[in-house]
Amino acid sequence: MENISVMGDPDKLREECGVFGIYDFAGGDVSSAVYYGLLALQHRGQESCGIAVSDTKGPKGKVLSAKEMGLVNESFTPEMLEKLKGDIGVGHVRYSTAGSSTRENAQPLVLNYVKGTLGLAHNGNLINAPELRHELEYTGAIFQTTIDSEVIAYHIARERLNTNTVEAAVGRAMQKIKGAYSLVIMSPRKLIGARDPFGFRPLCIGKREDAYVLASETCALDTIGAQYIRDVLPGEVVTISPEKGIESDTSHCISDKEHSRCVFEYIYFARPDSYIDGVSVYNSRILAGKFLAMDSPVEADLVVGVPESGNCAALGYSLQSGIPYGQAFVKNSYVGRTFIKPKQKNRETSVQVKLNALKEAVSGKRVIMIDDSIVRGTTSDRIVRMLREAGAKEVHMRVSSPPFLWPCYFGTDVPAREQLIAYNRSIEEICEVIGADSLAYLKEERLEEMVNGLGVCKGCFSGTYPLVPPTEDIRGDYDM
Ligand code: SF4
Repeated sequence: MENISVMGDPDKLREECGVFGIYDFAGGDVSSAVYYGLLALQHRGQESCGIAVSDTKGPKGKVLSAKEMGLVNESFTPEMLEKLKGDIGVGHVRYSTAGSSTRENAQPLVLNYVKGTLGLAHNGNLINAPELRHELEYTGAIFQTTIDSEVIAYHIARERLNTNTVEAAVGRAMQKIKGAYSLVIMSPRKLIGARDPFGFRPLCIGKREDAYVLASETCALDTIGAQYIRDVLPGEVVTISPEKGIESDTSHCISDKEHSRCVFEYIYFARPDSYIDGVSVYNSRILAGKFLAMDSPVEADLVVGVPESGNCAALGYSLQSGIPYGQAFVKNSYVGRTFIKPKQKNRETSVQVKLNALKEAVSGKRVIMIDDSIVRGTTSDRIVRMLREAGAKEVHMRVSSPPFLWPCYFGTDVPAREQLIAYNRSIEEICEVIGADSLAYLKEERLEEMVNGLGVCKGCFSGTYPLVPPTEDIRGDYDM
């Protein structure tokens, strides 16, 4: 269906996934908590979703699961949740970067093996998945899906045969897998969380009465009324069981200096009400706006954000510069994820269907417009034009991230270099393409400052990655 837009704004980067896990030591059913947790993480992936639960007092291999294509609230009915009975559960929302968008590739993965059943939800991308997969296939493994996560699940299952505990098997698997992963794993009697040593993707721990929770973002804890306890450390494996509460294995942790959190979690992916590794996503966006005002000032009458993701940085710019912050756009919240894309011969565009400029607010004004990123630049030019048509005298664009120039191998869908507007163009040339009066990006050296000095990955800006990237572009490998 060529004319159906399934991804919302085509000029935005996409995160791969959100993960959630819960174990209620009091034995209560957890499926509705997983459902609401996934609803709070929906922004991290909208293609498919799934819930797997198990009864820790029941037979060891019995896992009930449901996976669907589409949004969480469109996929699960109260009747479905009612049937998913169990006191331990994992959930997943997905947008695919490696492995195609099919129901088989939806997660959580449920794997039966001699020691029982594993349910696994993964956020991130491995850089050595193709090698590991070949290796496993040569020793007899038959894969059901085309996703990295199955490679991880297989490794854990195999290592479990040589280790005493499932968490030790997770640790052994971590010695082999390379790249970005935040994992939530359900074994028959334990809930396990693991984060890669670089900490590319977030993972936090919470508690609600007798239940422990693992989630990609703290906003999911808030949604189900759980208290934030702490983040899983980069490289840490946490094991949650009624006998021992939270146990921690930090033997895979590396020095803080090597940590490489995806800075886009702060700039764009995560919800502004989340905290990642103790840093407020909202504050980091406000700071990015302040830095833009300090480093790239311009005289103007109004600062506006491109909704929703540019709003916090626009507020930060306004706070720093003293130029009033306002609203310049009305967003149609009912367009949703899927809508019929206008045909080229029609006069309306996808951007206009979703956004309209507020003439009253911008007419006769010099406007600073802030967005979190420009990827291909295909929507920026239309939004700039929209403001001019609404009467803006000048439109100055400020971007709360540095220019994208390189691919990502760690779970963010950055298009091929040739498609990136910043590739082979100067800032002046980009400014001309989008039709703005001036253009400035956040300076790369501001990124750490923006997140309180935490170590961050800047690979897609600098081409220097924390791990040696594969020589071939592995994104989309194993697509069927
Ligand atoms: S390369 Fe860019 S998008 Fe990918 S993990 Fe690093 S900062 Fe994030």
